[in-house]
Amino acid sequence: MVAAVDTLSSDDDDQILDAIGSWLEGVKPQVRELEQGDIYPEEIVKQMKELGLFSLMYPVEYGGLGMNASSYAKVITKLSETWMSLAGIINTHMMLGQLIGRFGTDSQKEQFMYKLAAAELHGVLCLTEPDAGTDLQGIKTHAKNHGDHYTLNGSKMWITNGLHGSLYAVLTKTDLNASPAHKGMTMFLAERGEGFNVDGKIRKLGYRGLESVALSFDDFKISADRILGGEEGFGFKHAVGGLELGRINVAARGVGVAKAAMDDAVSYSQQRKTFGKPICDHQSIQIKLADMATKVEAARLLVEQAAAKYDRGERCDMEAGMAKLFASEAALENATEAMRVHGGYGYSKEFDVERYYRDAPLMCIGEGTNEIQRVLIARQLIQRNPV
Ligand SMILES: Cc1cc2nc3c(=O)[nH]c(=O)nc-3n(C[C@H](O)[C@H](O)[C@H](O)COP(=O)(O)OP(=O)(O)OC[C@H]3O[C@@H](n4cnc5c(N)ncnc54)[C@H](O)[C@@H]3O)c2cc1C
Repeated sequence: MVAAVDTLSSDDDDQILDAIGSWLEGVKPQVRELEQGDIYPEEIVKQMKELGLFSLMYPVEYGGLGMNASSYAKVITKLSETWMSLAGIINTHMMLGQLIGRFGTDSQKEQFMYKLAAAELHGVLCLTEPDAGTDLQGIKTHAKNHGDHYTLNGSKMWITNGLHGSLYAVLTKTDLNASPAHKGMTMFLAERGEGFNVDGKIRKLGYRGLESVALSFDDFKISADRILGGEEGFGFKHAVGGLELGRINVAARGVGVAKAAMDDAVSYSQQRKTFGKPICDHQSIQIKLADMATKVEAARLLVEQAAAKYDRGERCDMEAGMAKLFASEAALENATEAMRVHGGYGYSKEFDVERYYRDAPLMCIGEGTNEIQRVLIARQLIQRNPV
C-alpha cells in the first residue's frame, strides 16, 4: 500500500504513479478477456483495495491518503490508459467521499468516512432517472416524510457500481411542488434493504466489466438522520457541488484513452509496412499521429490547469468544463484515428483500439454532456467578461 502523507509532493506523486504503473503491467494482459466478457474484475478490485486506490482522496484523518485533485487526475489518467473501467470503479466512491466530507454532518462523517476510506463501504451516486438526466430538477423519486423516517419511491437509471456498491447517495424530491423545483430536493445516504431493488445490469457499448444498473425504490424506509447534511432542500446543491471534480475526473480519463489510442497508433505504424516502407513514413499517417499527440498534450494541460485551480479552492467550473469537453472529444477523435491507422485490424477484437472506440463516447455524455458543457462555458465567458 502506498504511504499516507499530509501533502503529497511531486516526488510522492511520481512514486505512487510508478507503483500503479508497475501493478498495471500485470493487469494489462487480463483486460481483453474481462472486458469482452463484461466480467467484473473481482481480483483486480481486491488488488486496488490493497494498493490503497479506494482511499486516494480521503482525508488522512479518516485513514485516507489525502491526495489532491491534481494528483488524483494523474492516477485516473494512468488507470484509463490501461482500462477506463478501472477509473469508473473508484470514481463514484471518491465522489461520495467528497460529498460527505463537504456536506455531511459530524455523525455522518464519523459513521461513514473511515469505512469508505478503508474500502469497507463502496460509494455510489444515484442521480439520473429514466426520464431525467441533464435536467436533474425533473427527477421523480419521492421521499415522503414520516417524522423520524422517510419512505422512498421511484427509480434510478445508469447507476455505476450499483451492484457492487454498498453506500448510495440518492437524489430525491421531498417536496414535489417546490418552486423553484431544486428547493424541494434532498440527498439521502442509503444502504440496501427491503424495498431497495437492483433491477438489472444495463448492456452497454463500452465501459464494460463494471456494472451500470437500474434501481428502484418501493416504499424503501430510511431514517431521517440519513439526509446528507441533516436538512431537507439541499440535494440539488449537493448534486451539482461535486460536478467540478467529476468533470476533472472525466477529462483525466479522456487524456488516458486519447494517449492509449495514440501510443497504439505510434507503435503499429512502425510495424505495418505498405509499398515497401512502414506506414509511419507515409505523410497522411504522420499527420494523424501529429494531431493525436497534440490533442493529448493540450488535453493534459487543460486538466492540469482545472485541477490546480480546484486545489487552490478557486472557482473552476469553466476550466473543468473546458477540460472535460476537449479531453473527451480528443479521446473520441484519437480512438477513431487510431482505428484508421490500424486499417482492418483496427476493427478486430484482437486489438485494443476497438475498445477505445467503444469506451470514448461515454466521456462525451457523463458528468454533463458536451452539449451542456458548451452552454456552461459560454455562460461563464459572458459572466466573467461583462461590457
Ligand atoms: C455508462 C454510463 C454510466 C453512468 N453512470 C451514472 C451514475 O453512476 N450515476 C448517475 O446518476 N448517472 C449516471 N449516468 C447518467 C449520465 O450522467 C446521463 O446519461 C447524462 O447526464 C445525460 O442524461 P440523459 O441520458 O438523461 O440525456 P438527456 O438529458 O435526455 O439528453 C439527451 C440529449 O439532449 C441534450 N440536451 C439536453 N438538455 C439540453 C439543453 N438544455 N441544451 C442543449 N442540449 C441539451 C443532451 O446534451 C443530449 O445530447 C451514466 C450514464 C452512462 C451512459
